[in-house]
Amino acid sequence: MLPSRGDAGRAEELALLRDADRRARDYVERIGTRAVYPAPEDVAALAGFDESLPQHGQDAAATISMLDELGSAAAVESNGGRYFGYVVGATLPAAAAADRIALAWDNSASAPLGSPATAAIESVAARWMLDVLDLPRDSAVGFSTSAGAGTVAALASARQHVLATLGWDVSRDGLFGAPRVRVVASELAHVVVRKALRVLGFGLDTVEWVTTDEHGRIDPASLPVVDSSTIVILQAGEVNTGEFDPFDEVMSRVRADAGWIHVDGAFGLWARASRHRALTSGIELADSWTVDGHKWLNTPYDSAVTIIRDRDAAASALHSDAAYSTSTGDAQKDLTLEFSRRARGIPIWAALRTLGRDGVAELVENATDTATRIAAGLRSAGYTVVNRVVLNQVLVRAGSPEETQRIVAAAQASGATWFGATVWRGEPAFRISVSSWRTRPEDADALVELLRSLRDGETRPR
Ligand SMILES: *Cc1c(COP(=O)(O)O)cnc(C)c1O
Repeated sequence: MLPSRGDAGRAEELALLRDADRRARDYVERIGTRAVYPAPEDVAALAGFDESLPQHGQDAAATISMLDELGSAAAVESNGGRYFGYVVGATLPAAAAADRIALAWDNSASAPLGSPATAAIESVAARWMLDVLDLPRDSAVGFSTSAGAGTVAALASARQHVLATLGWDVSRDGLFGAPRVRVVASELAHVVVRKALRVLGFGLDTVEWVTTDEHGRIDPASLPVVDSSTIVILQAGEVNTGEFDPFDEVMSRVRADAGWIHVDGAFGLWARASRHRALTSGIELADSWTVDGHKWLNTPYDSAVTIIRDRDAAASALHSDAAYSTSTGDAQKDLTLEFSRRARGIPIWAALRTLGRDGVAELVENATDTATRIAAGLRSAGYTVVNRVVLNQVLVRAGSPEETQRIVAAAQASGATWFGATVWRGEPAFRISVSSWRTRPEDADALVELLRSLRDGETRPR
């Protein structure tokens, strides 16, 4: 049924929003007291959602209550300080609150004419992103759904530009019959980079994969000779080790000749805004960069940023001009994959305004310090820490592959924490990512104690 209009309808709408808001606040209030991962019975109860599409609409208040009662009970507490899975941040209060206001506006943030408010705020957020990351100040900044989508946008711009220099207009003449574009990438490029390449018509077997060293960094000596037909893809923050390609050295080898250089900095690019900035030295010479908000800046999903130095390359690949909606050069519809879109730059603006430069640095430095603390604790508990812990990622193994797997399963089932398994250089490991503003040193110590007791459990006589 449609909501009722008029005064009665408005009163119902407000009551519904108040109820949803109360439920959301209750959820946030209990963060830190719930199981980090839902118990099997709460997951089983999700079957309650498995209804047939109703012929007649159901009551809105009952629908919201169902969502909260069944859904919240089975939500993963990734918005907390004891969740160390993948590279998942919590959400900053100001960013989450800003998103609530933008949701009430319900503006489509395609272009300034559609929403002056979102356009003004996103253009400030864009300027601040270039400032805080110290990247070329006249770059185009697109607020995208994810680093993955941003990688598609950046590499589409790269493809457009490189083919243009070879005398081919890919927007007009397409890919079939086009001159060959070479792609050079780290063998440890993230799966979304591989996906972007596939989507854009670069078959993975045609990519020139570059070998990496023991830390997971590109080995500059194994870079092929590049030319203006070559797109080079580098990485700031390898997802297992948190390591950075040696940008200064790589740039000195490829910058002069490469057609385009892209950097995947989904979480690692934030190091540039902290005392770990040296890890990113040379990165400013690239042509495009992707970085997430929803990982380490602790903005809500979906939130990422694509930065493209050559505004024209971005606009010619990504523009979405229509008779009723022409390009302004910096309209978000011409810098992202979306046309209609929510103003993803607003929570980023709120995060940057409330953190300030100092707060961004503190976020990164606290997480890195906490990761170092966890690494030291785990070593003393008899674990092998596989990586150097240059940033927020800790890569760990127990005594044997079987024991590593047993410990991951036991930790995940404990409800006291959550982190995931991975494979590094062919052997099982697990990965602890410290990405949440909420994580305190006590949370780190509790994690170490839990893992110590799980390891001791193995050696107790049965
Ligand atoms: C998470 C991650 C991505 C993908 O980011 P999404 O926002 O999930 O698309 C890409 N590269 C690296 C290194 C990552 O850690």
